[in-house]
Amino acid sequence: MAYRKEILHKVRQDYNQKRTRALGEAADRLSALHEQYPDLAAIDSALAKTGMNLVQEIVKGSEGINERIAAVRLENERLQKDRADMLVFYGFSPDYTDVKYECTKCQDTGYVETEPCLCYKKALAKEALDYAGLSRLAAKQSFDSFDLKYYQGDNRAMMEKVLASCKRYADGFHAKADSLLFIGNTGLGKTHLSTSIAVEVVNKGHEVVYTSAPNLFSALEAEKFGREASLTMQEVLDAEFLLIDDLGTENPSALNNNFLYNIVNTRLITAKPTLINTNLMPADLMKRYTDRLASRLLGEYAVLRFVGNDIRLQKIGF
Ligand SMILES: [Zn+2]
Repeated sequence: MAYRKEILHKVRQDYNQKRTRALGEAADRLSALHEQYPDLAAIDSALAKTGMNLVQEIVKGSEGINERIAAVRLENERLQKDRADMLVFYGFSPDYTDVKYECTKCQDTGYVETEPCLCYKKALAKEALDYAGLSRLAAKQSFDSFDLKYYQGDNRAMMEKVLASCKRYADGFHAKADSLLFIGNTGLGKTHLSTSIAVEVVNKGHEVVYTSAPNLFSALEAEKFGREASLTMQEVLDAEFLLIDDLGTENPSALNNNFLYNIVNTRLITAKPTLINTNLMPADLMKRYTDRLASRLLGEYAVLRFVGNDIRLQKIGF
């Protein structure tokens, strides 16, 4: 796993906070009980003493040590049982004063011995999705929820191949993987499959930047003119995997075309994989973005063509 340090730091901080919170809440419950029930406070101080007693018995020497230690243990067990009975008598569960960790396996440390706990791995993956701007889409769009029933005849056969290619790409993703261009009309699942790939790539521990074209270009414009930007050109160029959703829906401008050329060109030179999806057909790409850029996209990206009838319309009965 190669999560960036902001993600590791954020998750580490969350774990420290929830552990501190769990310990603090348990301490609060205990002191409130001690105040209300002095007999419980007395048992707890007796219990604290049994630890000391154990040390004293050991210090006294080896004669009869096993019996003496057994006696201290017995006393401890009796006190524990009295304590549990007392809690129940006062209307609480016997574990009422225990620390309530979110994860009992790692006690909210994130680690079981030296291994990262499953909960910690999940938290990292989730944070990475948030960081990539993918959590909202990831909840709905995965390979599992991609339904081929909306494609008919030849279209279905083609989309089966597209789906298989996307799965293969996600499975075999690596830092120098090919770049992909999804072309097709609105409502044919381009964003759905883009998200599905990105989520799997994030789950493998790669750093993903996911952005819609309008957001991307307005961020880059903000950066260029010294305003606060949600994304910088450096981040876009450095991302292990860059996903630009809906290219062509941004405002057309020479500046945006320059940004795009810089992104496509630099990432091809540095062999960093990029996924772009667009409603623009090849001829439209050429018209809109110059032949030079269109030929890089069409010639050096692996192109997947999405076909069929608008799924969103089919879903509402058209
Ligand atoms: Zn855990």
